[in-house]
Amino acid sequence: MCEHDAFTHTPGSGHGTTRRTLLTGALAGPLVAGVSAGSATAATTVTRWVKPPYTDAYPAMQVKNAVGRLGEAVPVTGYFVNTTWFKITTGKMAGTYVSGSGLTTTNPATQTFAYPSPDPFSLPPVGSRLTRYVISRDFYVSTRASASFSAARRTSIAPRTKVTGKLVSSDWVRLDDGRYITTALLATTPVVRAFNGRVPSGRLRALPAYLRAPSAAASSLERVAAMQFIRMDTAFAKVFGYHITVEEGYRSLYWQKHWYAQYGAPRAAYPGTSNHGMGLAVDIRSGAGSPFTFGTAADKWLTANGAGFGFDRSWWLDQGRPNAEFWHYNFIG
Ligand SMILES: [Zn+2]
Repeated sequence: MCEHDAFTHTPGSGHGTTRRTLLTGALAGPLVAGVSAGSATAATTVTRWVKPPYTDAYPAMQVKNAVGRLGEAVPVTGYFVNTTWFKITTGKMAGTYVSGSGLTTTNPATQTFAYPSPDPFSLPPVGSRLTRYVISRDFYVSTRASASFSAARRTSIAPRTKVTGKLVSSDWVRLDDGRYITTALLATTPVVRAFNGRVPSGRLRALPAYLRAPSAAASSLERVAAMQFIRMDTAFAKVFGYHITVEEGYRSLYWQKHWYAQYGAPRAAYPGTSNHGMGLAVDIRSGAGSPFTFGTAADKWLTANGAGFGFDRSWWLDQGRPNAEFWHYNFIG
């Protein structure tokens, strides 16, 4: 499991709650009226929450070279440097900057969404035209040159993009630009929270027992993602002689609530905001002795070949990032 989805393997450190006042003489910008309590010469430490669906953290006050991504409803503590930038002063992201427009004074975790009706995953008869949204909330997904994952030429499109096209099979839509996208990543609404963790069982597929790590009870993924994971593992096993074992795939709302109640944000993501809750994320074996840690031959193989099968580890989880997770892969189609 992992921090931006459930909870981290490595407990966070440095989550001090000390309030501190900083002189602004050395700071780059003016203070924001109403944002900084107190006098015009001091910035006061405050806590804000990340707005849906996420915000990126930068090493300096410019939208460049992001060092990490913070999920919806994650609290950040720091101060407003100016009208645009908020500097985080505690936790693993301490010293980084996020845009003030990505933060809110109200915890988004207190918002509720009604379950969409009818089923947002329902598809019209094959051959029909349809309009759908990419349901990825924080990562780019792929379109392919043909209705096949072996069509290597991939193009990336943004999360929550509205797309129109024709359903050519239960698994593929031919978009109006001639590219193809898998139905695994589409729904009638881009607002995924309402059905996150409540994915209909018919849309999921259990992974075979030989793909489950010893610590895993049962693991399933969205059915196309599961099929592709099995194919990726088959190719991997031919090279390495062992399987890409899985600790967790789909995670129900029940378990997300359990972890959130136990750990809170940011160690646990707010229920309804996890890629695992869509069956579109998978955690491969990560415990002691895992052959998949950063820099191993297996890790290099997955980095080089994963996207060909539709799996990718997002950049903010890469080695050296504050929330690095070698084990977490998203299904990108
Ligand atoms: Zn994960």
